[in-house]
Amino acid sequence: METCEKFHENVILYMEGSLKSQEKEKFVLHLKNCKRCQRYLKYIQMLISEKVSDADDEYWNNLTKRIIDNINNFCTMAELRILRLKGLFIGLLCLSFLIMTVLKEHHKNQEIVRHYHLYKDLPVIEKLDELQELCAFEK
Ligand SMILES: [Zn+2]
Repeated sequence: METCEKFHENVILYMEGSLKSQEKEKFVLHLKNCKRCQRYLKYIQMLISEKVSDADDEYWNNLTKRIIDNINNFCTMAELRILRLKGLFIGLLCLSFLIMTVLKEHHKNQEIVRHYHLYKDLPVIEKLDELQELCAFEK
């Protein structure tokens, strides 16, 4: 005959279905004859089913919420990244345009400076009117 203490030790194994057939026979026999262990088993089953169902509800409710939160977080992060990339891209375009313009002007000025000796001895026409008169005269 199994003792109550031994029965308590084997409750979990019994519920898992991992008791050996000989031990299971002793377990069931003890359960049939011991009111105390019947109550104990009912109590354990109640405790486990309550805990499991509670945990399940909370787990599944939270799981859905967690998944949605994760997706939202990911989307927000992705959107922010895309926005940042767009901003960076536009900024780079503006900056490169500015640099190009400055370089072009600089190059033009350098050309003028380099060829200054070609222009410096040319007669300077001071008045635009004079030039127009000259052109009219040419015709
Ligand atoms: Zn017992």
